[in-house]
Amino acid sequence: MAFIDKISKSMSKTTQSISKLSSQMMEVSKLNMSIRKREEEIEEKLLELGHYVYSRFRKMNMVSRSEVVELIHNIEAMENEIESIEKLIRSIKNINYCSSCREEFEDDVRFCPLCGKMLK
Ligand SMILES: [Zn+2]
Repeated sequence: MAFIDKISKSMSKTTQSISKLSSQMMEVSKLNMSIRKREEEIEEKLLELGHYVYSRFRKMNMVSRSEVVELIHNIEAMENEIESIEKLIRSIKNINYCSSCREEFEDDVRFCPLCGKMLK
């Protein structure tokens, strides 16, 4: 009886860790989707920026700095959002990351094997 108890206990533990893993995977894929959405928005903003600069130059041979700056700030804000989502994904997946060369490591290393920078 004790043996069967042990088996059922370890089985429920395994089931728990599998469901935890799959909910993590779902969360990561949701986060990846929101990264892709922002990347598309960035592409749209870059296109808008290009159209704006081109048409202003053709018509008036000048560009309004404030409008360009606003578009660039929008793009920067989305890039920052992507960066923080990537950070979240790395913490969910428990991945080590080098802020200098942007390499990712799964092992628990203290220094980046590529560039030697100390990892946080
Ligand atoms: Zn590095």
